[in-house]
Amino acid sequence: MPDTTRSDVATRLIHDSYRPPAGFESVQPPVYKASTVLFADTAALRASRWEDRSGYTYGLHGTPASYLLEQRIAALEGASHCLLAPSGLAAISVTALALLSQGDEVLLPDNVYGPNKALSQELLRRYGIGCGLYDPMDAQDLAARIGKATRLVWLEPPGSVTMEFPDLPALVRVCQERAVATALDNTWGAGLAFAPFDLLGDASLGVDVSVHALTKYPSGGGDLLMGAISTRSSALHERIQRCHMHLGMGVAGNDVEAVLRALPGMALRYRAQDAAARELARWMQGQGAVAQVLHPALAGSPGHAHWQLLCAPGGEGLAAGIFSVVIDARYTGAQVDAFCDALQHFRLGYSWGGPLSLVMPYQLAAMRGRAPAQLAPGTVVRFAIGLEGVQDLRADLAQAMERVFGL
Ligand SMILES: *Cc1c(COP(=O)(O)O)cnc(C)c1O
Repeated sequence: MPDTTRSDVATRLIHDSYRPPAGFESVQPPVYKASTVLFADTAALRASRWEDRSGYTYGLHGTPASYLLEQRIAALEGASHCLLAPSGLAAISVTALALLSQGDEVLLPDNVYGPNKALSQELLRRYGIGCGLYDPMDAQDLAARIGKATRLVWLEPPGSVTMEFPDLPALVRVCQERAVATALDNTWGAGLAFAPFDLLGDASLGVDVSVHALTKYPSGGGDLLMGAISTRSSALHERIQRCHMHLGMGVAGNDVEAVLRALPGMALRYRAQDAAARELARWMQGQGAVAQVLHPALAGSPGHAHWQLLCAPGGEGLAAGIFSVVIDARYTGAQVDAFCDALQHFRLGYSWGGPLSLVMPYQLAAMRGRAPAQLAPGTVVRFAIGLEGVQDLRADLAQAMERVFGL
């Protein structure tokens, strides 16, 4: 450190010989914000490796806090490696671009998260990567669609919006038998409802890659975007890490710190939102305007038995705090919109896992190749349950239904 006591004040505001004493420790890790990372000398510069997390080279490749968050998400997922991405969708696109090349084909469940379908059908196709859809409720359909060019199969339990729960072990087995890589969108399960790398409880069956939108439960705030890509395979991790680096997928220090701060309470929030969602979903089953309630933990909901085997062996089990209802076909789309607008506590907005309850009406015909057979006719509305009092949410649903549907 140069002696700057006689330097210009501008210089002294940048170069300062003071060093706080070492040994400070607090409950939460500090925020590290960096594009530039400083090296003690050229030897340290040459020796520094970010690839194996043994050093630091540039903010894009990681800071102490981002390495720590990767460790904690890997622990949550039951993985050995994890990479952070700037959003859940970025984690999905990096995974696809890392594992697919020109001439390959990717298969998606027909009820997949919409933007993943758009990525595959629009962007990947432009790069000569084929894309097919399979029926997530039929392992034989998946088996029949896997061809010579199929390199990646996406899995998503339950389906986005329509909430069908697939037979995940059966789908993974079909892919493993054909040596096709599997990538799971684990945003719903969040690492809590089931173990993606250990589907049968004995490490004999698991997915290859688990992608998690940390935007939802791990953040818990509805105020930031982040994604994670986890795997137990060093070879897969290195391949995805290379692509992640090529695309410049960095995350911001303040966002990393916010997720680290929210993580310790995540399991409690997940359980509370699960309990509230199940209570409201059961109550909705008795409402006159509701033709069907779609929640995998409810008997009669599509794939309930698959959910029970995977997420609730011999107990109450766990489910995310979201569910959908089909508003009976005798009501018009305009009436369903009016119902959503009449809600006071539930606000209109995308996403879930935050403190505020959300509602969203969906026009399914525009989203699906074929109408899901198990669905009652009508309009699908999805509810994401926040952390408000359940009674208040139920009263809100009741007043809006009475106002708009007259019952
Ligand atoms: C929200 C979500 C994503 C994408 O996460 P973003 O951070 O919003 O990009 C992916 N998959 C599922 C199932 C999601 O709910």
